[in-house]
Amino acid sequence: MLGSGSAGNSALVATDHCRLLVDGGLSARQIVLRLEQCGVAPDQLDGVLLTHEHGDHVCGLEVLCRKYDLPIYANALTAEASRCDGSLDRHRNWRIFRTGAEFSICDIRVQTFPVPHDAVDPIGFAFHAGSSSLGFITDLGYPTKLVIERLREVHTLVIETNHDEKLLQNDSHRPWPVKQRIQSRHGHLSNNAAASVIEELLPGKIERVVLGHLSRDCNTPELALGAVQALLAKCGRTDVELHCAAQSQISTRFRVGETERGAFQPTFENAFFQTAPCPGAL
Ligand SMILES: [Zn+2]
Ligand SMILES: [Zn+2]
Repeated sequence: MLGSGSAGNSALVATDHCRLLVDGGLSARQIVLRLEQCGVAPDQLDGVLLTHEHGDHVCGLEVLCRKYDLPIYANALTAEASRCDGSLDRHRNWRIFRTGAEFSICDIRVQTFPVPHDAVDPIGFAFHAGSSSLGFITDLGYPTKLVIERLREVHTLVIETNHDEKLLQNDSHRPWPVKQRIQSRHGHLSNNAAASVIEELLPGKIERVVLGHLSRDCNTPELALGAVQALLAKCGRTDVELHCAAQSQISTRFRVGETERGAFQPTFENAFFQTAPCPGAL
């Protein structure tokens, strides 16, 4: 996790052959700096995958992609929303997929699935490489059956623990409609809601959980970790590794599994992607 929280989100998913950014919601400068700390130069990236168009997930991409012509993988509505707010309207290197599609980028198989959130077509990801997989869900109001289904096979899960319910209720800065939006079925997962998702996945393959997207005012790492630790203790699953990602610095690097080293025959699935619809273009 290059950084995660209400002020911006970006993560690096990498194998020996492939380096992908998931969202680019930190400043381009911070993305480059933090990639450097992971030993990755921005021009080594194979692409950026977008979960949705909210600023805390895309705000660094305009500058980053002006300098490095990175492919951006997104569904059509998310691409259009990101282009129409002006920030990415000049970017040409879009790879458009249908929500629900599965595709490969180098040796990473990417599964996409819809999540309920107040964006045009928000999605979560499951990444498969070698024998291991990584689930990635931030920004969702509640877990649908499909979300749980897609995550049953993952070994590592990145999940948002956005807020502590009490801190949110007592917060004096946020007007009532904003609180309602956050708590709604198209808002964000609370610490307890995330714990329930994890509980549902315990019979599966899950070995490690990384908490992210914490609200600065309405949560703390202690509260988020505490809620999930309590759940794991209750279920007798203290063997599950637990981490909390921070906003201002990169997290520990997690080794999700082993992939094939050595020579790699690239897939040419890129040919199946369309370029983004370009409103007003000739
Ligand atoms: Zn967000
Ligand atoms: Zn969002």
